[in-house]
Amino acid sequence: MKILVTGGAGFLGSHLIDRLMAQDNEVLCLDNYYTGRKQNILQWMGNPRFELIRHDITEPIRLEVDQIYHLACPASPVHYQFNPIKTVKTNVLGTMNMLGLAKRVQARFFLASTSEVYGDPTVHPQTEDYWGNVNCTGIRSCYDEGKRVAETLTYDYHREHGVDVRVVRIFNTYGPRMLPNDGRVVSNFIVQALEGRALTVYGDGSQTRSFCYVSDLVEGFLRLMASDHTEPVNIGNPGEYTILELAQTIQNMINPDAELTFKPLPKDDPKQRQPEITRARTWLGWEPTIGLKAGLEKTIADFRDRLTET
Ligand code: NAD
Ligand code: UDP
Repeated sequence: MKILVTGGAGFLGSHLIDRLMAQDNEVLCLDNYYTGRKQNILQWMGNPRFELIRHDITEPIRLEVDQIYHLACPASPVHYQFNPIKTVKTNVLGTMNMLGLAKRVQARFFLASTSEVYGDPTVHPQTEDYWGNVNCTGIRSCYDEGKRVAETLTYDYHREHGVDVRVVRIFNTYGPRMLPNDGRVVSNFIVQALEGRALTVYGDGSQTRSFCYVSDLVEGFLRLMASDHTEPVNIGNPGEYTILELAQTIQNMINPDAELTFKPLPKDDPKQRQPEITRARTWLGWEPTIGLKAGLEKTIADFRDRLTET
């Protein structure tokens, strides 16, 4: 199959491409390198089944493909808030362009949506039929509302034009290849502990997140794409931790003497987040297989290698 992966040079996109290439597909990786890196896909350069396209999805593009995995969008609050208007354009214009492409060539379209569509949730754990609690004027809304419109567009193209769609709502995912300056909590804590700096806990650290290891997530992507289910599906690891617990776990794994320092909680930071994964379990036969400690070990090893290289 000929498969387009937008955002393919990024963290999740590059792991997805590894699986798609291993399955003998032809893969087109499209990226503007905002947060992606060529190193992530270096192993496929020169392979005749692999093609790299430097392109910004806010501009239309014509390609012939059978499937589209649409991942292009910065995922870390630090990066998506750096140029929030661009984040909205990427989610709205970019998703519209990719849906237009899917419509023209009748490709199956897979949207990488997010648990952020639930905002600061009043339902716990979050089920797919929960409509969410999002501040539409806040600093996170360029991403949260951007993704909500991306979902709306996806279902309007499905209803109006018969585009065959799949929508995954991804919960916090971590693993090798996250950027050291990514700004998300797992990479921040690991890099800080490895560099002998204090771990920056925002607020009192009582807010919760659920962390999924990247290989589990990508397995969920492939199963959803291969399924007949057009409704949104949560993919995430239901193991829920406070940010303070995460900091202490990483502290104990890398350097028990590392200090913790408390910084102000960013505005609109969701207080709790845990995926309800009955759909993934029953529709896709999917559930996570890698626990937090095991996943952190692999991630720490990767950061150690990269930080000593540079
Ligand atoms: P990432 O920042 O590593 O990857 C995003 C990729 O998209 C990068 O390679 C970037 O250069 C590219 N990109 C950004 N804007 C673009 C544009 N306008 N045109 C072309 N390319 C563009 O992030 P990630 O963690 O790999 O996330 C991938 C997708 O998954 C995103 O859509 C994100 O919203 C979603 N997601 C991720 C998580 C997570 O925990 N990693 C959670 C929820 C949702
Ligand atoms: N966080 C933190 N220290 C950091 C980075 C993040 O305490 O150095 C907190 C952040 O306030 C949030 C949680 O960790 O409560 C997850 O943040 P991240 O940016 O990884 O993802 P998101 O908020 O989008 O889930």
